[in-house]
Amino acid sequence: MIAIRVVPLANLHKEICSKRQDVPEAGEMDTHLPGAKDSHHKSHDGRLMENYDLIIVGAGPSGLFCAINSMQKGKKILILEKKNSPGHKLLISGSGHCNITHDGNIQDFLDHFGDKGHGRFLRPALFGFKNSDLIYFFKSLGLNMIREKGDKIFPETLQARDVLNILTSQCRALGIVIKCNHAVRSITRKEEGFLVGCEGGSYSSRLLVIATGGCSYPATGSTGDGYRFASLLGHRITEIGPALTPLLIKDYPFSELAGLSFSDMKISLYRHAKIREHRGDVLLTHQGLSGPGILDLSRYIRAGDVVKLSFVPEDKREALEEWLIDVARLDGRRSLMSMLADLPRFLASSVSSSVSSSVSLPTYLSFRLIKRILEISGIASELHLGQLTREMRNRLIGNLTGLSLVVSDLGGNNQAMITRGGVDTREVNPKTMQSKLVKGLYLVGEVLDVDGDTGGYNLQAAFSTGMLAARNIRNNLD
Ligand SMILES: Cc1cc2nc3c(=O)[nH]c(=O)nc-3n(C[C@H](O)[C@H](O)[C@H](O)COP(=O)(O)OP(=O)(O)OC[C@H]3O[C@@H](n4cnc5c(N)ncnc54)[C@H](O)[C@@H]3O)c2cc1C
Repeated sequence: MIAIRVVPLANLHKEICSKRQDVPEAGEMDTHLPGAKDSHHKSHDGRLMENYDLIIVGAGPSGLFCAINSMQKGKKILILEKKNSPGHKLLISGSGHCNITHDGNIQDFLDHFGDKGHGRFLRPALFGFKNSDLIYFFKSLGLNMIREKGDKIFPETLQARDVLNILTSQCRALGIVIKCNHAVRSITRKEEGFLVGCEGGSYSSRLLVIATGGCSYPATGSTGDGYRFASLLGHRITEIGPALTPLLIKDYPFSELAGLSFSDMKISLYRHAKIREHRGDVLLTHQGLSGPGILDLSRYIRAGDVVKLSFVPEDKREALEEWLIDVARLDGRRSLMSMLADLPRFLASSVSSSVSSSVSLPTYLSFRLIKRILEISGIASELHLGQLTREMRNRLIGNLTGLSLVVSDLGGNNQAMITRGGVDTREVNPKTMQSKLVKGLYLVGEVLDVDGDTGGYNLQAAFSTGMLAARNIRNNLD
């Protein structure tokens, strides 16, 4: 297993942006296709307007990949990018290591896009360009992929920059023009195509792709502009919200335990009644909960909901009670703390481990955690087993099998990895990614109302939808 350097995400974007960029800055990629006709026209305000066969708004993975695969000899393709270089979000993906996709059968991907039928919408895209195809694409260009813990696929160099460099150098080799520092301000439908207005000028094209991403991590350039463009072109936008985001917890009791994580923990979600159950890794943060298990569940969580964490599986409740009673009978003078630290394997559901400490704990539940759970249960930590009353025991068992924590808020767009909601997929053809409302308009990547779990599903969706659109665009460019 390759050691992965953990950099706080908030710092990562700053760090990446301050490093020397291999990918070109504004203007450097403004190359024209050899042999392509220079077709400049004056727009109605008298400014020079450049004509292209295809304009793609957004140089993220979906836009870049769509451009590469749309290219045909003699055609002019332009990518307009708001930031000073392409792929800012791609560079921070997977903490800079880029968890590009997931291993396994592509059929299994469908269940990782929530339960609103999004997996069904993505089916033609994912089956048309699978995880194995994506791995092969990069391998054929010299970047091998490796499988990490949890079947996540990463570039073997563990550098998101290497993924981005392949995409941008492919664009360069194909003569695709990328204009950075060109934030698109308006998209207007005209008789035969689109008029695109941006800070740097006006452009027109017959076909247009919106690949502007969602609105999480807005510093990367994804500020939700695509929703506005699509809406002005007549598309419905479903309710937008942060997803794959940590939770802030009301009266959070575990601040001093930040860094402690649990593998494969059961998490139950309650809104009046239980609405969902999930298993996954959980990380205690300074203000609440994070880790893949929480991030994946966050898609369904709203402020005010209750999450219950099971340190001991709920169905082991009786066994836990019996064990506590039996040991108390045999050795009533034994300290409660040391006994809980010796929780038998068959009772422990989640192995806890401390990220901040390199000392491996000999127990399943760390002393610090047990102490805190005892405090929450109103039980003195120095208590002996013989002193544990039935009420205390019931409170303790309740908190070990399902500690209730009230969600005060979800981490906002600055913490969310993706955006829930987007362009309503009912108005987009799942076999082509072309709008059902506006001929010649395509929508790819996160701007669509699709959001996947952590584990590489979102990048695969960005690449697969980009590829599907490109296949249709190629036919329509002829
Ligand atoms: C911290 C973090 C880590 C992540 N890690 C992973 C991971 O490991 N694996 C995974 O599968 N997914 C991951 N994701 C999600 C994944 O990065 C996104 O789903 C993916 O980048 C979406 O690709 P996209 O091309 O649709 O949009 P984006 O990558 O968001 O790209 C959109 C581009 O459009 C540009 N743009 C926006 N508006 C305009 C405009 N008006 N004019 C011109 N340009 C514009 C933006 O500047 C941006 O460059 C992560 C996300 C975050 C925030």
